[in-house]
Amino acid sequence: MAHLSMLREFQCWLRRTRDRLPVACLLCGSRAAGGLCRYCCEAVTADKEEVRRCPRCAVALRGKPAAGHPDCPDCPDLSAALERVIAAFDYHWPGDLLIERLKVQGRFSCAVVLAGMLAERCQTAIDLHSSKRTSPMLVAGVPASRRSLILRGFNPAAELGRALAVRMGWEWQPGLIHRAHEGQGQKSLGRRERRREVEGLYRCDARLQGRAVMIVDDVMTTGATLSAIADLLQQRGAAEVWAAVAARTPTRLEAPEAGR
Ligand SMILES: [Zn+2]
Ligand SMILES: [Zn+2]
Repeated sequence: MAHLSMLREFQCWLRRTRDRLPVACLLCGSRAAGGLCRYCCEAVTADKEEVRRCPRCAVALRGKPAAGHPDCPDCPDLSAALERVIAAFDYHWPGDLLIERLKVQGRFSCAVVLAGMLAERCQTAIDLHSSKRTSPMLVAGVPASRRSLILRGFNPAAELGRALAVRMGWEWQPGLIHRAHEGQGQKSLGRRERRREVEGLYRCDARLQGRAVMIVDDVMTTGATLSAIADLLQQRGAAEVWAAVAARTPTRLEAPEAGR
């Protein structure tokens, strides 16, 4: 285990060094340390208006809360095993460009920048809600379909997960979750059909007794995929399951691809 912790320390040092080097901003091209200039970073992460967010699933909520009533439209459909969702920003311009450039153009530096934004949110949430944890979280990306792997040659969720694990000093577990079968895709499915479609779609053979797991994906829309995986990990003994997504789709909008 000692060599693993030394490797993690070395990765953290490498990341800190790289973050100080000026490179072209991924959105505007100006010189910036870390791959995204301050103005673009603010444009991506700043909310367009004053919004409340669901403290559990991070979706933007409208209006004032009704006294005594939880008013999140998405939480009732999420699995109780999914304790908390961390999102770097809402799925809209210009943040969506970073996701598109990772997924479509295979620009892996976008995964590093997105993971950096997510890491800040994760640290804040952990300081607030999970100060008692002693062992590092296990990190796993949502597995891609075989078709998508063949088309792209990589899994964007895994790239993001690995970069987040390095950034946070957590344990990256690329083989923790597998696809049990290929499924039919969720593009045109409604909320309830998506939940049915992902039931039994994933497999986990690891024993996770007492461990905390962070599932990572690029975009969360209905949460059907994350819910199914959280159920699975809880059945395997995980004590705590969180999810980290680069972007959270505002309620009732559909993500461009998987809609998961
Ligand atoms: Zn910029
Ligand atoms: Zn919610």
